[in-house]
Amino acid sequence: MKISIIGAGIGGLSAACLLAAKGHHVEVFEKNERAGGKMNIVEAEGFRFDTGPSLLTMPHLLEKLFRECGYEMNDHLTLLPLSPICRYNYQDGTIFNCFDDRSETAREIARFSEEDASAYSKFLAYSESIYLKTANAFIYNPLFGFTDFRKLNLLSFFGIDAFSTVSKSVNRFFRSHQLRKFFKRFTTYNGSSPYLAPATLNVIPHVELNQGGFYVDGGLYKIAETLFWLAGELGVTFHFNSSVQNIQVSGKRVTGLVSKGEVNPCDLIFANSDATETLTTLIDDASVSHRKKKKASNIEPSCSGFVLLLGIDRTYDQLVHHNIFFSEGYEQEFNQIFNQKVMPDDPTIYIANTSFSNPEHAPEGSSNLFILVNAPYQSGKYSWESNAGAYESKVISELEKRGLTDLAKHVTFRHRITPDDFYDKYLSNKGSIYGTSSNTKFSAFVRPRNKSKDIAGLYFVGGSTHPGGGIPLVIQSAFNAMALFERYGRN
Ligand SMILES: Cc1cc2nc3c(=O)[nH]c(=O)nc-3n(C[C@H](O)[C@H](O)[C@H](O)COP(=O)(O)OP(=O)(O)OC[C@H]3O[C@@H](n4cnc5c(N)ncnc54)[C@H](O)[C@@H]3O)c2cc1C
Repeated sequence: MKISIIGAGIGGLSAACLLAAKGHHVEVFEKNERAGGKMNIVEAEGFRFDTGPSLLTMPHLLEKLFRECGYEMNDHLTLLPLSPICRYNYQDGTIFNCFDDRSETAREIARFSEEDASAYSKFLAYSESIYLKTANAFIYNPLFGFTDFRKLNLLSFFGIDAFSTVSKSVNRFFRSHQLRKFFKRFTTYNGSSPYLAPATLNVIPHVELNQGGFYVDGGLYKIAETLFWLAGELGVTFHFNSSVQNIQVSGKRVTGLVSKGEVNPCDLIFANSDATETLTTLIDDASVSHRKKKKASNIEPSCSGFVLLLGIDRTYDQLVHHNIFFSEGYEQEFNQIFNQKVMPDDPTIYIANTSFSNPEHAPEGSSNLFILVNAPYQSGKYSWESNAGAYESKVISELEKRGLTDLAKHVTFRHRITPDDFYDKYLSNKGSIYGTSSNTKFSAFVRPRNKSKDIAGLYFVGGSTHPGGGIPLVIQSAFNAMALFERYGRN
């Protein structure tokens, strides 16, 4: 069977490896010049930056991917636990180091709130209980056919806190603004707002704080590089700089795709291109109705991001590998991003400083700072063309105020990535970086499934599909698509 994959992001690479390991003839068509999609890199002037993910959670899924292809992840990638996992900086001067050791973290919390230190373990138990109730029903379930939906019968929406919001439930557990902000931030891992998303998303702290959050030695791009290598070993062919313009359909069945003006016949397509973009721009109206295209374009994307890559000619003692500088008015920040759809006046700023763990990522005595501020998806309410330069200066001066003295004077290399760039480069829906949002309790049910109901032989993988964004869920989307492929084949 000849299978074409549109896109060499983590979703496309995972599907390519799994399909090739089963003996299929697989070809990948990728718009850009290299594999990885949003997991990407910039290398310049002795600095090396990851431009996408900086933290790997649920590594068992990556491990399973390698194993299903007959390889061992640990022979090819070195996962490093970090200590502290992350350093959180607050504008009142509090510094909170979070460790994977619970008692060490509780001691840190007790420095500003004894009460919250004892609530910490209770919250993690609550978070784990949501995971245990939802993982098999939602994440590891394609949620496609009748049998899949039967698994939901056992689920109580009260038991998974679906009727509260992340923010309200976090406030029930904690009194200090420090821990409230800390736990609400996890909702941004899938690009949603803690003030809108159902409290079920309080499952995310479990995957980082109980199961572990990892760095990959050499940088997260090593994952993409290694999966690309693995796909090659398994016989996958790659066509780079090869945008797909059209999916060919005949009699409601996939027959091929068009790239560079040429028709490439195939029996099946796995689309790793954004699902909304795929449905609305790559498929003719005769094959997917106008009504369904409209429904797809109404799916709310996750937030986007404003990224600054700064090469600086010094190190800052207060920076560890992962660092967060919280805003003061947290709710107002999310209101600006998710409701007003403008950049926050007082942003929370994340810095990944991988030269802390891999000194070779920057010239000696220098640092490579990957700086990320959550940003609204493209909506026409904020012009990056007019504002990008000013917002870049604002982020740098905010960091100076929050302790990185004279940062501007030490910048020797700079590069920025805006939501417009995320759209232009990866064609992700409205520049979103994590796929679809989870801002309502029904989001999990409206997210595109891993197989088309309209077109036989068309499968979907990636963050814009079920079960959602972030590296592990994207890998799981490929497992879900494989399960459906084994069930339905070309039908
Ligand atoms: C700044 C940032 C920080 C992040 N941080 C984290 C993190 O710490 N941890 C984490 O787990 N996740 C993180 N994420 C999210 C994670 O990167 C994504 O969920 C994941 O990489 C998405 O993979 P994907 O395969 O779904 O899509 P993509 O990476 O977007 O891949 C899709 C591919 O399809 C190609 N394509 C699209 N249309 C076409 C077409 N018509 N023809 C040919 N090719 C096409 C694109 O060029 C792209 O290569 C972050 C993302 C960003 C941007």
